[in-house]
Amino acid sequence: MTWEAVIGLEAHVQLSTKTKLFSRASTSFGADPNTNVNLVDCGLPGVLPTVNREAFYKAIRFGLAIDATINQTSHFDRKNYFYPDLPKGYQITQMERPIVLGGFVEINVDGIKKIINITRAHLEEDAGKSIHDADPNNSLIDLNRAGTPLLEIVSEPEISSAKEAVAYMKALHQLITFLDVSDGNMSQGSMRCDANVSIRKAGSQELGTRTEIKNINSFRFIEKAINFEIKRQIRVLESGDKIIQETRLYDSVKDETRPMRTKEFANDYRYFPEPDLLPIVISNEEIEEIKNNFPELPKHKKIRYLNDLQLSENDAEILSSTKSLSVIFEELLNTGNNAVLAARWLVGDVSALLNKDQIEIEESKLDAKLISELLKNIENNTISGKIAKEVLEECYQTGASPNSVIESKGLKQITNTNELQSILQDIVNANPEQVNQFKSGKDKLFGYFVGQAMKATQGKGNPELINKILRELLAK
Ligand code: ADP
Ligand code: MG
Repeated sequence: MTWEAVIGLEAHVQLSTKTKLFSRASTSFGADPNTNVNLVDCGLPGVLPTVNREAFYKAIRFGLAIDATINQTSHFDRKNYFYPDLPKGYQITQMERPIVLGGFVEINVDGIKKIINITRAHLEEDAGKSIHDADPNNSLIDLNRAGTPLLEIVSEPEISSAKEAVAYMKALHQLITFLDVSDGNMSQGSMRCDANVSIRKAGSQELGTRTEIKNINSFRFIEKAINFEIKRQIRVLESGDKIIQETRLYDSVKDETRPMRTKEFANDYRYFPEPDLLPIVISNEEIEEIKNNFPELPKHKKIRYLNDLQLSENDAEILSSTKSLSVIFEELLNTGNNAVLAARWLVGDVSALLNKDQIEIEESKLDAKLISELLKNIENNTISGKIAKEVLEECYQTGASPNSVIESKGLKQITNTNELQSILQDIVNANPEQVNQFKSGKDKLFGYFVGQAMKATQGKGNPELINKILRELLAK
């Protein structure tokens, strides 16, 4: 029997607002525990939430980018449950009338395009964090994250494989980072997802019973968790058992999913409209303002890079789809660097260094200013491309400026014609045999002389000049 998988994802994206969804406390990451907390976030009696409109603007920006309907009047609901890291005893979320309805995201798996429809995207507050491993006798609570704005993006059950799920999450990640909706930092929890997985007989239209894998926080784990779960469900059904609708946890160490709670123990959240907040009404003027300040999306960026800047297909694709590189590239353009050269170095040598250490450019010692200085040195012939690689590597390791590396290591290119002329004359004089062979038609030997010249100048001879002078000397 062949089975097919049906997957629907609930992605949680932390919005990059300065303050929380209902309070003035900061959302900055990495602060000391319980310092980004005010009375509203602790759920003290008598305090009232106020809505952070910026969170709505970011949600709307996302909605517009996926061609969704924006509910200009939406409201919050209370989702009641008890947990130590939720001091109010309820989470404020949008159940009945979310801000974003419908829309779609396009994915591309192995060259095949597919549309994944979005059911809805709603705003809600995050909970705090329980810490179980810091103290041997107690669980600790950090409320810094409590009240941080989240956009929960719910997909239709239209994803058919773990690979498609990853492609979908990557497409979302690209959108939210380019739209400045979120920093998208997955290791800091800015984007995570719950994966709903079921299987059915190939070709069947009915949905099977699903399980929900909670809180997966990396692309790799999404793929592994879903693949494990699909195989497990096939095993269960083929052995004649039934799938139990339940929530499961993915254990990345054992690479398996395990039950958390079944439907019988599921919470009854007793949703009702949040009485402390009026419905949120977004005016036409506000929507217009958002549209007028819309960031450039990757697909439009790519067209511009191809048509206006004449980048290669590969460079345009990479620079328009990776937010961090795109930001640096735009800064390099703004500081007057040659677009094709800048693109070639960013996609080539810079990316190679970053990939080796598996980091993003903002986590490295490189920045636009440093790279710009390097490129200027290449453009004005101070250093050759080959030496530039060496300089870049040094700057990447130490954070030193290219100028200081070139200066201290004496890497300046020899562009002095007289100086090169005398070095090259020596080489010609020292190799009469090769000169004769070259003159009698062995053209390949030209490379031999260039090699000798590079050796003699320790790679610092200007390649064009060397070529030119050598041609002249050998023609004599
Ligand atoms: P809940 O709120 O209980 O999590 P929803 O009906 O809102 O449930 O669905 C949540 C997610 O589960 C959605 O992304 C949806 O596409 C997905 N989903 C629903 N039914 C199935 C199913 N049978 N198999 C796979 N995914 C499903
Ligand atoms: Mg769910």
